[in-house]
Amino acid sequence: MKVRRRSQDNRFYELRCFGCGRVCPEDESTTACPACRMPLEVHYDYDYIRSRLNRYSLKSSPIKALKYLDFYPIRNLDLVVSLDEGGTPLYRCHRLAEHTGLRRLYIKNEGANPTGVFKDRGTLVDITKAKEMEAEAVCVASTGNMAGSVAAYASVAGLPCYVLVPEGTPIGKMSQALSYGARLLQVRGTYNDAARLTEEMSERHGFYLAGDYAFRVEGQKSQAFEIIEQLDWHPPAVVIVPMGAGTNLAALWKGFKEFYELGFIDRLPRMIGVQPEGCQPIVAAFNQGLNTIVPVEKPSTVASAVAAGDPQDGVKALAALRDSGGCAVVLTDEEILEAQQHLARSESIFVEPAGAIPIAALSPLIMTGRIRPDEVVVCLATGSGLKDPKAALKVLPAPASIEPLTSEVDKFLRLKLYEIRASGAKNGGKELFTKVPSQAEIGELVKREFGVKLTADYAKKVRALAVEFINKGKPITKADLQYIVENVLKGLTEHKQVLVVDDFEISTTLHGKPKARVWINFEGEKIEMASTGVGPVDAVIKALKAAAEARGRLFFELIDYKVEINSAGTDASVEATVTLKDAQNNRVVASGTSPDIIVASVNAFVEGYNVLWAKQKGQKIANG
Ligand SMILES: *Cc1c(COP(=O)(O)O)cnc(C)c1O
Ligand SMILES: [Zn+2]
Repeated sequence: MKVRRRSQDNRFYELRCFGCGRVCPEDESTTACPACRMPLEVHYDYDYIRSRLNRYSLKSSPIKALKYLDFYPIRNLDLVVSLDEGGTPLYRCHRLAEHTGLRRLYIKNEGANPTGVFKDRGTLVDITKAKEMEAEAVCVASTGNMAGSVAAYASVAGLPCYVLVPEGTPIGKMSQALSYGARLLQVRGTYNDAARLTEEMSERHGFYLAGDYAFRVEGQKSQAFEIIEQLDWHPPAVVIVPMGAGTNLAALWKGFKEFYELGFIDRLPRMIGVQPEGCQPIVAAFNQGLNTIVPVEKPSTVASAVAAGDPQDGVKALAALRDSGGCAVVLTDEEILEAQQHLARSESIFVEPAGAIPIAALSPLIMTGRIRPDEVVVCLATGSGLKDPKAALKVLPAPASIEPLTSEVDKFLRLKLYEIRASGAKNGGKELFTKVPSQAEIGELVKREFGVKLTADYAKKVRALAVEFINKGKPITKADLQYIVENVLKGLTEHKQVLVVDDFEISTTLHGKPKARVWINFEGEKIEMASTGVGPVDAVIKALKAAAEARGRLFFELIDYKVEINSAGTDASVEATVTLKDAQNNRVVASGTSPDIIVASVNAFVEGYNVLWAKQKGQKIANG
């Protein structure tokens, strides 16, 4: 990277290689050692810091990242770029503590930062350094949160910001970064592919390379300072941190060591690092006693914020785990999602999956004696759940829709529909049956698995859908049954089925236009209709629409259509959702579920049509 040299007013810090110890001038590199490619680290002249430090004001002023400016490698304080980050709450969690058997459990809620993640603390220093070094633009690779954070600070600093993320990054995070004005690219690859490209981008175009490097660590260590202050200047026994690049755990450790060095605390906490099963290079190295990290080629985890297969600061995190006498743990995605729900319900802290990993680790750590019940434990809740709402929805019910009638609200309460999926997060892949049980058996099964008591009518509908699954040759798993039940219960109102599809037939070739023929029953009358379309689903929906409009005189548009695959693996089922709108602006959202995408779409369409029909009828009656 080309950076113009500025006068150095003093030398109270220097960058040193974490591997070979070589001192690296800032204008040569701020990211990796030019000799051995290991990460760099900021080393201070602590006598200098000590001489500048006003202990009284440090201890008496309110906490926030900016109060620790003396601990940051910033030369020109006029250039500081801040959004007033840090000062996040440290909650004492009584309910969660009781549940896990701990006496004193705290959670540092880093989701309360300006962009919803601890990274803002690091970005404060990172982008201030970009200003100091007279960068004209910044670039950054990210799994999503770094993108939002760096884009926000680059925006207030007046710097163009280029961001590379892996394709499929949670939409909330991309939406955030784009809104701050980031010039964003999705890379068909992993986070590490994005990181490699960004590094090259920085070298070829002279952009400042922001990210998980030495300066960021300096900003993020303020989490440790704040924890010490919030515990009344007593260090906790244990701090549990999710690890992606490992930078944040290394930053917290450096912060604790600096407060120790300056005499603010007289002992250091044990650092415990946690990773998801689908991306655990640091934990694996720790448990195998290695000093190097073996990269994970293709990370796979619901905790996308920690899906860094080749962690930049893996060696720093390893050293922190060892030097602090800590340990490392992995958790499954299922355990992480469960902890996410548990944290939200017991302490009202809504985190994204990565932020729940420390909570998921508590039980195994206590059970294996690696944490004692009487120890003071701090978990880092690293990021807000609002940026990745889809992750939580994986284990939450899709809420039912009702007509605006009190009777429907009462029905919701009577059937206890809010109970569904209370036990749905677990064992989604469990096979429940391969032959269709009776209606009564279905009722019992649903009651047992999901805690919802179906009326006979609902049980009948659930059974009918289950028959479709079995006829398609798909055994019904717990997840399938849950989707079926949800789907049936979503349409709380029992509408008259004016439109029923008896059958359909589709012929399609690779290059020709697909043709669909449908046989419907419209209020007892049989109709046959055919249509072509751009695809098979389009063709069959067009035929259905034509038949329904011809007979029902109900004209409408299909304004949205969405297909999602439920449950992982090859044995997936499909949920299709349609939005229909008529000329009076009545809008209906309906969904259908099946192992077959066309059947799911047809079911959604028919449901939507019948609801729209009932709505129009109802309005006609109301309007006299
Ligand atoms: C970045 C991030 C992490 C992981 O931090 P690293 O410094 O990459 O180890 C954990 N949780 C959230 C929410 C993050 O955004
Ligand atoms: Zn080196």
